[in-house]
Amino acid sequence: MSKKKKSKKGKCNNAEVWTEEQYEEYMKELYGMEYIAGFTENGVPYGTFIDEDEENDELIIRDISIDSDDELPFWFLEVGVMIEPSKVKEAFKRIEEENYAFRAYLKNHADEDDLDEKFLKLHKELFLSYDCSKCRNCCKEYSASFKEDELAPVAAFLRMAEKDFRDKYIKEEFGDYQLNVRPCCFLKEDGGCQIEVCKPTSCRDYPYTDKPERLFSLLSILDSTSICPVVFEMFERLKQEYRFKRRKRY
Ligand code: SF4
Ligand code: SF4
Repeated sequence: MSKKKKSKKGKCNNAEVWTEEQYEEYMKELYGMEYIAGFTENGVPYGTFIDEDEENDELIIRDISIDSDDELPFWFLEVGVMIEPSKVKEAFKRIEEENYAFRAYLKNHADEDDLDEKFLKLHKELFLSYDCSKCRNCCKEYSASFKEDELAPVAAFLRMAEKDFRDKYIKEEFGDYQLNVRPCCFLKEDGGCQIEVCKPTSCRDYPYTDKPERLFSLLSILDSTSICPVVFEMFERLKQEYRFKRRKRY
């Protein structure tokens, strides 16, 4: 673990990039902190925390330094550690039932606007420090989907006639234009996208967790918890925020 502070710059998947101050404010609120002294290598903040003493119904203010492992709040080592892309599927299988139960819980208890706000905050916070080029599970597991007017620009970019592009790469079903191969043939070895400048909206917007009306899209988000490490982490944090009963982690 290092005491190095988080850098101002970070990668972000289509979300507005927060300033360091905005990020720290959000983390303070999320972790119930008075003051952030620094971050661990995994992005977990340390500093001054406020703990609830449920037995005596009072708040306790504690200084947690990076060396005081025995005093760390119980969640300190559980959250903030993003699961590795190669382990998401396996981890999802272990908590699949719980995730479906949590979806049902949200359907019955969550306020639509409040849930959107929570998703948006988590989206900004988690993608801020996540480098998608090290993952690309979405490019490997889903088929890219194009709107009809997105085909010509990609064909032009690839120096192909639109018809040839369609014949070679596209499968059309009920007005839906999907790439006919998976993993995506435009995924480069270094994790980049060969058609980055004109990639379809579906790729730009994935995993849609910064979009409104998430309460009505929980099934697709749940599906993403089996693919996307960031969405997996979002669901875990939401369980905490909603105080949903959690099982032992993977
Ligand atoms: S699956 Fe999620 S974390 Fe991985 S590349 Fe796609 S959006 Fe980024
Ligand atoms: S077009 Fe690019 S971003 Fe979309 S799935 Fe293919 S490699 Fe990924």
